[in-house]
Amino acid sequence: MLRVGVTGGIGSGKSTVSRRLGELGAHVVDADAVAREVVEPGEPALQRIRERFGQGVVRPDGSLDRAGLAALVFPDRVALDALDAITGPAISARVAELRAAAPRSGISVYDMPLLVERGLWVHEHLSVVVETDVETRVRRLVDQRGLAEQDVRHRIAAQATDEQRRAVADVVLDNSGAPEELVRAVDDLWATRLEPYAANLVHGTRSRR
Ligand code: ATP
Repeated sequence: MLRVGVTGGIGSGKSTVSRRLGELGAHVVDADAVAREVVEPGEPALQRIRERFGQGVVRPDGSLDRAGLAALVFPDRVALDALDAITGPAISARVAELRAAAPRSGISVYDMPLLVERGLWVHEHLSVVVETDVETRVRRLVDQRGLAEQDVRHRIAAQATDEQRRAVADVVLDNSGAPEELVRAVDDLWATRLEPYAANLVHGTRSRR
């Protein structure tokens, strides 16, 4: 199996890339989706978040007020570290389970916002970094996702920079143009670097890097 990590800053276009790789035939593990699952009502992590940040971050229906929590933690490094200490191990455990359940051959894609920050890229055979300049990301997230500009900027400041990601990237995909251009770049990556490699792996002629 060829393991591919896909990362990038918030709003860079990771989901677009991993979705396309899924359509092309990769098995996709989405750490963003896992991050949402581990704080669903009834999950131990949600209980710990309530204990640490107060009942105010939980809605009357028992679900996490993600925007409220984001506004609390992103400007405050200590609070952010405390949240990470609660959710990080739960996310890692669930991702490890999903990885163990992945097919033994073919291409396995790991969509992970904090691949670089957590040093997890070392486990991947290939690290793909999606890059979009900060102002474009802010505009997309505010206009299309309805996020508050200040929250987006705080999140960006808490994440690795594009330079730090680039330092560990095997492949950099630029997403400053139209979505179709990004999809075309993913198709190219698949055709030139992924599909042939996976075929070779299946036939046992390539080893891990
Ligand atoms: P997150 O970090 O929040 O998981 P992400 O890196 O997975 O984000 P996407 O969800 O793929 O990024 O894209 C972020 C937002 O920008 C989405 O609303 C998406 O529709 C939009 N978007 C992505 N690429 C483009 C593009 N090339 N042109 C215009 N809008 C785009």
